[in-house]
Amino acid sequence: MNISSDFEQAHLGFSVNRYGQQRMNTLVTGGAGFLGSHLCRQLLQSGHKVLCIDNLMTGRMENIHDLIGNNNFLFQQHDIVDPIEITQSLDRIYNLACPASPPQYQKDPIHTFKTCVLGAMNMLELARRKGARILQASTSEVYGDPQVMPQAEGYFGNVNTCGPRACYDEGKRSAETLFHDYHHAHDVDIRIARIFNTYGPSMSPEDGRVISNFVVQALSGQDITVMGDGSQTRSFCYRDDLVRGLMSFMEHPQKIAEPVNFGRPDEYTVLMIAEKIIDLTESKSRIVFKPLPVDDPKRRRPDISKAQSLLSWTPVTSLEDGLAATIAHFSALAAEQAEQVNSDACVV
Ligand code: NAD
Ligand code: UDP
Repeated sequence: MNISSDFEQAHLGFSVNRYGQQRMNTLVTGGAGFLGSHLCRQLLQSGHKVLCIDNLMTGRMENIHDLIGNNNFLFQQHDIVDPIEITQSLDRIYNLACPASPPQYQKDPIHTFKTCVLGAMNMLELARRKGARILQASTSEVYGDPQVMPQAEGYFGNVNTCGPRACYDEGKRSAETLFHDYHHAHDVDIRIARIFNTYGPSMSPEDGRVISNFVVQALSGQDITVMGDGSQTRSFCYRDDLVRGLMSFMEHPQKIAEPVNFGRPDEYTVLMIAEKIIDLTESKSRIVFKPLPVDDPKRRRPDISKAQSLLSWTPVTSLEDGLAATIAHFSALAAEQAEQVNSDACVV
């Protein structure tokens, strides 16, 4: 596919942003998704030009509706499994395209694996041809069900190659290998960000991950579905902190080709998260227990000392503040939907 005479035209004649910094032509894959849409917005606010590519599998146009019409932004629907030609010069590529929620990435595991591997290959080829720096959104899932706590980048992980999570975990591991090899074989300037569980506003209510599920359930008075006995742990980072970290990693002047963890190191059981969300929403929802999914990791907590020392990055948003912002977002969405239903009923 050949994209973007529009992008090319939109980009002629600009090389410096309003801060006098170099204006980057930036490609964001997965830019209509939860993290990608926030990243697109932050890049535009920093004065860069953004080409957003997404197949809209889990991403939504609502996430980027305010960006459509911005002269520095172009959206193109495209699946990164298929090769892409872009005539415009590119300085940066953020490769975020891939469903991240287990129920979503398990719907079509072969496509998920292709997205991770063929998608990474296509983006690396593009980076090589354009001389662009490229950042891969990797994941804490490369550690699988970890046997060491906390997980530092030197840990090789404990992943089942044949389980229901393998399409994602092994796909992301293979993508890291491809990044590493393109760096060594073709001197592509790569960044590999291992992202731990991140949540926040603009998650889809249908996403299926724990925080969005619990918030939607608590606000609508449905049962809160805790998998297993809820003793498994995760560490939750707020969206804005994470995206700030990715941008500073991308722009770090030193070539950092080794993976770097991004996450918030506080560890909570899933049951604690359910109780906290019930408290914060003052919900009457009951907690119900469902079977633990196969290969669900028992504990996860990032060691972020590398990000702290290399980038001076540290997450600053507390779980309470992040949850409050997320709850406010889902409440507003529910109110909008209720208003829509009422006005439809009036029309009838
Ligand atoms: P998301 O599902 O909201 O966003 C993924 C986006 O990629 C969606 O817009 C989707 O439509 C798009 N996409 C999927 N497959 C595609 C394909 N083949 N071609 C083009 N577009 C495609 O998920 P997210 O939480 O925003 O995650 C973004 C990235 O960060 C993913 O690569 C994910 O693996 C990684 N990550 C996220 C987390 C997290 O907790 N949010 C943790 C670890 C890694
Ligand atoms: N989980 C849960 N109820 C839900 C969704 C998820 O108890 O409605 C659990 C899930 O089994 C896992 C944890 O919450 O133990 C985090 O799940 P999520 O899908 O958010 O992320 P991941 O498992 O990929 O870390």
